[in-house]
Amino acid sequence: MANELRFDGRVAIVTGAGQGLGRSHALLLASRGAKVVVNDLGGSSTGGGKSSEAADKVVAEIKAAGGEAVANYDSVEEGAKIVQAALDHFKRVDIVINNAGILRDTSFHKMSEQDWELIYRVHLLGAFRVTHAAWPHMREAGYGRVLFTSSAAGIYGNFGQANYSMAKLGLVGFARTLAAEGSKKNILVNVIAPIAGSRLTETILPKEVTEALKPEYVSPLVAVLAHESCQENGGLFEVGGGFMAKLRWQRTEGVSFKLGRNVTPDLVQGSWQRITDFEKATYPEDVTSAMQPVMDNLGSKSRGG
Ligand code: NAD
Repeated sequence: MANELRFDGRVAIVTGAGQGLGRSHALLLASRGAKVVVNDLGGSSTGGGKSSEAADKVVAEIKAAGGEAVANYDSVEEGAKIVQAALDHFKRVDIVINNAGILRDTSFHKMSEQDWELIYRVHLLGAFRVTHAAWPHMREAGYGRVLFTSSAAGIYGNFGQANYSMAKLGLVGFARTLAAEGSKKNILVNVIAPIAGSRLTETILPKEVTEALKPEYVSPLVAVLAHESCQENGGLFEVGGGFMAKLRWQRTEGVSFKLGRNVTPDLVQGSWQRITDFEKATYPEDVTSAMQPVMDNLGSKSRGG
């Protein structure tokens, strides 16, 4: 196809690319010309063990299809080594897809500090270390496309996933700040919250659903966000099973109590309907727009209360 999105000359790091979503992203980018660092620790879905097999297999698949890739087996907790692999083999890094992940699901009262800590280390600290190591090279080049992998569990909360939800929504705030900091150097940062059949979901979803939710339905959106033509920045997208949509924050019109007035709990309770009514919702996009009603109130432009 004449106008297909190509990645010739671009170098992509895909973490956790030995299987599931990461493998699918790596195969797609490589099939369109990107040189890919296929990172995977090769451990279990709960973070135990390690093996070179998963990453090697995907590299072999990419090469068999005529693409270029190199395997890396470091944990994302050692993100600088993964970025170094890109520099050693391909001399640059243009795209970082933070995808590696594990689960330590259990209800909160049974959750150990280790369960909490490990999820934090792989999802958040790992994404920090990989991105932080790549960042100066992208700034220097004046180009970068960075993706983070969040989850509906982070956005909405999910029973048995307090640790995972913490990390996954943490990535959204992290990404939005990087989006603000990176844009002047043409480094754009976006987040996906995917749903796909993989070893992480095969225990919770029925077999036929797991099989239908192919990771290949997620990767095309990843490719668009990773492409040089992409102008989207700081976005959060739900994607899976053929569905793709963008999310944003919504806030009620709210109530501004006149300054100087004695704001009692009873007054707040009495205003509850107006505090929680989404009828006249707004969509603050940054800290400045979020602060606007507060600033208006300070300027005594109270809407009453
Ligand atoms: P998966 O288990 O198939 O793949 C994850 C890969 O990450 C594995 O190959 C694993 O070895 C690797 N990995 C784990 N820890 C690592 C580490 N420390 N360093 C390097 N590699 C490591 O899972 P998946 O479903 O493809 O998940 C990919 C990402 O998508 C994860 O971040 C996951 O939380 C997220 N996610 C998945 C779903 C879904 O429905 N599958 C939903 C929401 C979010």
